Amino acid sequence: MHDTAEVVVIGGGVVGCAVAYNLAKLGLTDVVVVEKGYLACGATGRCGGGIRQQWSTPHNTRMAMASVRLFEGLEDELGYPTEYTQGGYLILAYTEDEVVQSRQNVAMQQGLGLDVHFLSPAQARDVVPCLSIDGVLAATYCHTDGKANPFLVTQGYARAAQRLGVEVNRRTAVTDIEVANGSVQAVVTDQGRIATRWVVNAAGGHAAAVAALAGLDIPVVPYRHEILVTEPIEPLFDPLIISFYYGTYIVQAPHGSILMGQGDPDEPPSTDVRAGLPFARSISAKMMRLLPCLKDVKVVRQWAGLYAMTPDAQPLLGPIDELAGYVQAVGFSGHGFMVAPITGQLIAEHIVRGVTSLPTEGLGMGRFAAGALAHREASVV
Ligand SMILES: Cc1cc2nc3c(=O)[nH]c(=O)nc-3n(C[C@H](O)[C@H](O)[C@H](O)COP(=O)(O)OP(=O)(O)OC[C@H]3O[C@@H](n4cnc5c(N)ncnc54)[C@H](O)[C@@H]3O)c2cc1C
Repeated sequence: MHDTAEVVVIGGGVVGCAVAYNLAKLGLTDVVVVEKGYLACGATGRCGGGIRQQWSTPHNTRMAMASVRLFEGLEDELGYPTEYTQGGYLILAYTEDEVVQSRQNVAMQQGLGLDVHFLSPAQARDVVPCLSIDGVLAATYCHTDGKANPFLVTQGYARAAQRLGVEVNRRTAVTDIEVANGSVQAVVTDQGRIATRWVVNAAGGHAAAVAALAGLDIPVVPYRHEILVTEPIEPLFDPLIISFYYGTYIVQAPHGSILMGQGDPDEPPSTDVRAGLPFARSISAKMMRLLPCLKDVKVVRQWAGLYAMTPDAQPLLGPIDELAGYVQAVGFSGHGFMVAPITGQLIAEHIVRGVTSLPTEGLGMGRFAAGALAHREASVV
């Protein structure tokens, strides 16, 4: 492992690898990634792979739209398969409040140029014929939303970064961040010390613990979310289906398995990623209501991962006033896979050029100090 680097990226999830690749793409190749496990062993490898642009805040919508443009060319750019497809996202509304929110979202999203539509229940069933529309009042649909394989995307970024000269260290845990005179000096790992000017915190659900190593207190809180996986079956539907009312999402993977996920709103924050039987029971019951056609399909496994939540469910990006050289790409609040491509680009632009191609001002620590948050994401599942 190098003992000096211009930039040390902490975390080998999709975000850390995207940041490292984008730094190298902009010509800054003296970059070291440190990952305490294996690449994508955190939330990235445990996520649903969904990529949606239908958000309630302009920041989240803009970032997702910019990421979709990057996902469209990513296989060619990285020279690696991503299993990216644009099968759309169908969001179901079950209450009058959800219908009102859906209409507001669609108006804002269309204003930003997104091709998204408000649907009747019958139109929703045209999109997913096996869907039960019992209780559905309306839906929204965007055909350019989609999904990709998180392991492949992360590997693609890491390999492309390595080809450009980035060093990627697996099984290397960061144990300290040395700070002096208000700036970052070095990152200490269980494999040695790396003197550096810049450190990027891309530690997912462990972001607050990593920030604390540098003496920083950031509002990123981990919550367990779980996923259940069925045996592979014939292709049934292309779009991801989500319901905020049921707090769940459903996706069919390319090889045919159906993945269904949710968190438990009553569970306290923790970094526990054990899988539990109460989840399996609860999600199965919900699935029977949404997709009764799955009733004879067998469950083959389940897993859990961490949502890294911020108070407004928008990411926490960029530098921090108290510490020069520290940059963060954290707090993705359950949607960091889909915005990783643009996040990697923006963080690299910040470090290399000092300016970013999309506005990130509203995504820094300043928004929490102001007292009242200007926007709070309402469309988190
Ligand atoms: C069940 C579930 C479903 C999800 N579904 C979706 C979805 O459909 N679409 C979507 O966009 N997002 C989804 N998400 C969210 C998404 O997975 C995350 O936002 C995204 O993967 C964050 O990537 P990351 O690289 O920031 O974090 P991670 O993938 O968690 O990577 C952080 C890495 O940092 C490493 N690390 C931590 N501490 C240290 C240390 N001290 N030293 C060295 N390394 C360290 C960890 O080992 C980890 O590998 C889901 C999340 C979960 C849990």
